[in-house]
Amino acid sequence: YISDARPIIRQLDESAINRIAAGEVVERPASAVKELVENAIDAGATRIAIDIAEGGKTLIRVSDDGCGIAPEDLPLALARHATSKIDGSDLLNIHSFGFRGEALASLGAVGRLSLTSRAAGHDAARIRVSGSRIEPVQPAALRSGTVVELADLFFATPARLKFMRTDRAETQAINDVVKRLAMAEPSIGFTLRDVSGGGEGRVTFRADAETGDLFDALHHRLARILGRDFAENALKIDATREELRLFGYAALPTYSRGAAVAQYLFVNGRPVRDRMLTGALRAAYADFLSRERHPVAALFLDCDPTLVDVNVHPAKSEVRFRDPGLARGLIVSALRHALAEAGHRSSTTGGQ
Ligand code: ADP
Ligand code: MG
Repeated sequence: YISDARPIIRQLDESAINRIAAGEVVERPASAVKELVENAIDAGATRIAIDIAEGGKTLIRVSDDGCGIAPEDLPLALARHATSKIDGSDLLNIHSFGFRGEALASLGAVGRLSLTSRAAGHDAARIRVSGSRIEPVQPAALRSGTVVELADLFFATPARLKFMRTDRAETQAINDVVKRLAMAEPSIGFTLRDVSGGGEGRVTFRADAETGDLFDALHHRLARILGRDFAENALKIDATREELRLFGYAALPTYSRGAAVAQYLFVNGRPVRDRMLTGALRAAYADFLSRERHPVAALFLDCDPTLVDVNVHPAKSEVRFRDPGLARGLIVSALRHALAEAGHRSSTTGGQ
């Protein structure tokens, strides 16, 4: 006896697959902004402008002056698992932000996306996709670079739409994403504008491209984002252990916070949220701070890309080290050393 109600196995169609993938990659407007700004950085942009309306729910527009996309490549840019950044043979050796070839396909599945671009030696062209329906490539007007416009995010996934927070909360999350990426890329100029209600809009964050050496540029950028006070109270960190390098700025214990809200950690230039790394930061300050106080720092851990796996999570904010103990040890020892030295300096000079 075979029941009529036996389950049938079906292949999902492209649009359903894209919407499912989008659920992992694009959680909220800020994740869309992150993907688009990372694409602009990967494209070698020196200036990136981000316009948002209603917390990114109705509009996210990212414009860059990067390498652009040739007209014939536009459909491929929107296709799932299509990327110009890796060849698939070496998932351990990733130097770019992107590599999954998933962002534009996902965004085009859950919103209305228009991609306008001009590559050197080509005319400008535009392609549109809405709920995974791709329209033919059209000629467009653009001097150089790329403009990606994403309207009505999640219109195709009403369940996700319901989970969006207030405009204010989503705007705040976008601000945070842009600031983290701006810390990682001091030589790129960033402008974030709120264009809710139309018109010129209001610039909510601006950082001009920094010049000078690594530490000068980073120090200026951090002063811009975390404030002069941080910059004046920050210790320069620069240490290596085996093939790991740690650099950046960490604030004196006297410049701490009541919550762990100003800890910016990067692995190979990628903003990450990682328990092991924040745990190391906490451990380093343990002798210098009471339990209710939290250190403020912007620290960059660089290593050969083969020693860290960034392929753990679709949103790519988690990483896995081949040797976590080495990373932890370097952070703890480098910070303790810098803090002890600063303490020693201020006590011998009778300083602050
Ligand atoms: P990934 O970044 O993982 O490659 P995406 O879906 O984000 O996947 O982008 C697909 C491709 O489209 C990229 O590999 C790149 O070739 C092209 N692309 C996307 N955004 C830009 C941009 N701003 N400038 C130039 N090329 C871009
Ligand atoms: Mg990408």
